[in-house]
Amino acid sequence: MFRKSPFSLPAEQYGGARKRVFIGLMLASCLLLCAVIAFFLILPWMGFFSTHSWLPTLSIAVGLAVIMSILWLCALLIFHIYTGKSLPGVDSVRHITVRLFFPLMELLAKLVRIDRGRVRRSFIKVNNELVLASGCTVEPGQLLLLLPHCVQQGLCSHRLVHNPDNCQRCGKCPVGDLLNLRDKYGVRLAIATGGTIARRIVVQTRPRCIIAVACERDLTSGIQDSYPLPVFGVLNQRPHGPCVDTLVPMSALEDAVRIFLGLKQRLPQGRT
Ligand code: SF4
Repeated sequence: MFRKSPFSLPAEQYGGARKRVFIGLMLASCLLLCAVIAFFLILPWMGFFSTHSWLPTLSIAVGLAVIMSILWLCALLIFHIYTGKSLPGVDSVRHITVRLFFPLMELLAKLVRIDRGRVRRSFIKVNNELVLASGCTVEPGQLLLLLPHCVQQGLCSHRLVHNPDNCQRCGKCPVGDLLNLRDKYGVRLAIATGGTIARRIVVQTRPRCIIAVACERDLTSGIQDSYPLPVFGVLNQRPHGPCVDTLVPMSALEDAVRIFLGLKQRLPQGRT
């Protein structure tokens, strides 16, 4: 019952980040939230708001119900993340995690001085495994490859944002290979210059699944903004620093494309 998820992805693809960072922070955030609720819960018992005799009993009943719900949600999600098994209501739990817990976890990580990038990479890894576990498979036309503009060589004069096919596929940057990948599988491809353009592309193309390539910061916000649309995040490589001539791990990207088109088993390389 508690066997590790078969959808577990290699930590090397996520800069060495592991799920335990995400799970630990989520648990800590839940306990912190419960402690704050418990604090307010004992106030009526200490004589505050004592004008109403029924208030202490009511506050205990409501407070305990909320604490139990938070702990239940947390346990449900940790079970789902660890085993990859779906349970009833787990989609709502993912929603709450992405919308509520992750911002809280980032705040907590800042307080205890855990590297933000590490937390984000762990979040992306967990998100990807949950997307894989959901079993989503789409037609090529429903799959969107969303790329950042920094993947284009800085010195290239061709404008790609409105039409990626302006690329001459000269081989000086990954765009040519990415277009070849698009043509090979018939999926859609778009290049975005920022979050606003990316959101507009998603609204216009209406994909059923997105494979996004970007840095951890952009992937994290993209996953949150696009929820409940499944977004599988592929971390880019930055040999020249952030936002300059970035590279794409092509084999990891092609693996992801094949998985979502139903052409490859949902197990990472080496775990078949
Ligand atoms: S492959 Fe060549 S033409 Fe295409 S974007 Fe890169 S540098 Fe420009």
